[in-house]
Amino acid sequence: MNELEHQLIYPLAEFLPEYGTKHEVAPGVFWVRMPLPFALNHINLYLLADEVDTVHGRISGWTLVDCGIASEEIRGYWEQIFETGLDGKPIIRVLCTHMHPDHIGNAAWIVERFSRAQNASQRTCEFWITLGEYAICRSLVSGADPGAAERENAYYQKHGVVDLEALATLRVRSEKYFRSLVPDLPKNYRRIREDEPIKIGGRSFQVIIGTGHSPEHAALYCDQDQLLLAGDMVLPRISTNTSVFEIEPEGNPVRWFMNSLDRYRPCAPTTLTLPSHGKPFRNLHIRLDQLQAHHRDRLAEVAQACALKPCSAMDIVPVMFKRPLDTHQLTFALGESLGHLHALWYADELVRFVDDGGVIRFRPKSVEL
Ligand SMILES: [Zn+2]
Repeated sequence: MNELEHQLIYPLAEFLPEYGTKHEVAPGVFWVRMPLPFALNHINLYLLADEVDTVHGRISGWTLVDCGIASEEIRGYWEQIFETGLDGKPIIRVLCTHMHPDHIGNAAWIVERFSRAQNASQRTCEFWITLGEYAICRSLVSGADPGAAERENAYYQKHGVVDLEALATLRVRSEKYFRSLVPDLPKNYRRIREDEPIKIGGRSFQVIIGTGHSPEHAALYCDQDQLLLAGDMVLPRISTNTSVFEIEPEGNPVRWFMNSLDRYRPCAPTTLTLPSHGKPFRNLHIRLDQLQAHHRDRLAEVAQACALKPCSAMDIVPVMFKRPLDTHQLTFALGESLGHLHALWYADELVRFVDDGGVIRFRPKSVEL
């Protein structure tokens, strides 16, 4: 545990469910943990006991919140859960908090499987997600975009990546990354809206939309039982990635994320937060304070670095990330560094200019050239 984690309460202490099993964390709410082949090596998914009206009357089943990347390993664990963990009941809804591959990769596979398995006259397995997440994901999954790798490479160069080997690796990554982890997406969906609570089992969940991490992230909060399915918006151990990406080059995701955190403050102080990474925890409000303070500290560091010399996003990477990074991590580190530069730029603390080599740099507003 790091120093900040000591201020949080982990009701299950060090317990982690075995892969391929589920563990009840609140009545009818089960924690499923799956392995990921990244530095962030796992994801938490949640199975909630649910009920639905069909032409044959009310049937019970499960709502699944997020579903893992489309890897053989995760699908193997899902098979295990389908066989022994569902009490013979179908998954009637897959709900994704957002469109990142570790959350949405198996959605089409699971929705299709449980739609087929049920009688055609019954309701099939539905796919629930916000419009913003669905639209971006659908374009990434379906779109042949031959120029994407080239554009992304130009983007990295513009932000100070000069290492040719790194650029070549990044190019290979952008060519295959998303679609290898999300090979397909359900062809239709039910839209999650902030003003429409979602009923799951006997509970009513309020939708809390957040941005800065993904386009229109949906977290679910049940006030009656003080449960928060937080997705990636509030994580107990690590800070959520808040990157500027090539698709939205003028974005201000760090500021949007810091503002979004305030939307969780009305949650009850005793809320049990069920995050997508790390362990279920209490003391949500302390964590919100920690995360906002974390970004304020990083912004101060970035401002200080730019006061010493005009910095590109790549110059900021070692300022913010004092450890070796693999290619996968470099894309997020670069995006997050640019996110912090943009937050200071939008706040009028930094100005932006292009140097003689075509690299975008930031310097304090007060310094005249
Ligand atoms: Zn995410």
